Amino acid sequence: MTDRDRTTGRAKGSPGGSAVRAAWIEPADKRVGILGGTFDPIHYGHLVIAEQVREALQLDRVLFVPAAMPPHKLDEPVTPAVDRVAMVELAIAGNPAFAVSRVELERDGPSYTADTLAELSDEAARGGVARDFYFILSTEALADLRGWYEPERLLALAHLAVVPRPGAPLPDATWLAANLPGGAASTGRVVCIDTLPLAHSASDVRARAAAGHSIRYLVPPAVEAFIRDHRLYLSNNTQRIA
Ligand code: ATP
Repeated sequence: MTDRDRTTGRAKGSPGGSAVRAAWIEPADKRVGILGGTFDPIHYGHLVIAEQVREALQLDRVLFVPAAMPPHKLDEPVTPAVDRVAMVELAIAGNPAFAVSRVELERDGPSYTADTLAELSDEAARGGVARDFYFILSTEALADLRGWYEPERLLALAHLAVVPRPGAPLPDATWLAANLPGGAASTGRVVCIDTLPLAHSASDVRARAAAGHSIRYLVPPAVEAFIRDHRLYLSNNTQRIA
């Protein structure tokens, strides 16, 4: 196994910091969607919600933000960030409105969304750009939002773009009012978008790959090839780090 930094997933000794920070956002991008996730691996479920939210909200950019250490998955093995980022890059290639951010990979410790949004917002302010952020999340993730790190701060920094996931339909106004912290439901900062529900999940893709089954049509062809070439998710591989 390559000797990798456990947080960034970069090979140790490889250039870090600004050398790997991609030019992921343009000054002209005023309406920016953020899709955070483990992306282990990215699949068509992610891509469809990103594209349909982009279209519905007329976003200038959707930023995919892979988590270095997902706070809810600290006990689970996660593929090195360098591979997860590579798969995101392959998956979004060709869509000029999509970009990947390494912001969470350059920070130590767990990847808290509120910290990420604060960093992105500070960066916009430093550049003198007024920018609206729309944090995209599915209903199943929304149901846990109160348990996230500083959810009120998160809601102050971004609008929420809520999408359905099979088994977790869009919430109604009553549910939102009862479950969102800080009265966010009544502030107009939460928008529900009825994207096409796709039952894809990264855990299902990993399980299929581990069992030697086809993952064709679940992930883009380039991601499928990357998984195959790098022997990811095979039960005896040494790529996944605890
Ligand atoms: P895993 O199966 O390993 O838990 P996942 O498929 O849920 O992974 P994540 O990277 O954890 O993928 O998801 C990032 C975000 O995308 C989360 O808000 C998640 O709810 C959402 N998401 C993932 N897959 C779908 C899907 N098929 N439909 C709608 N939202 C999805």
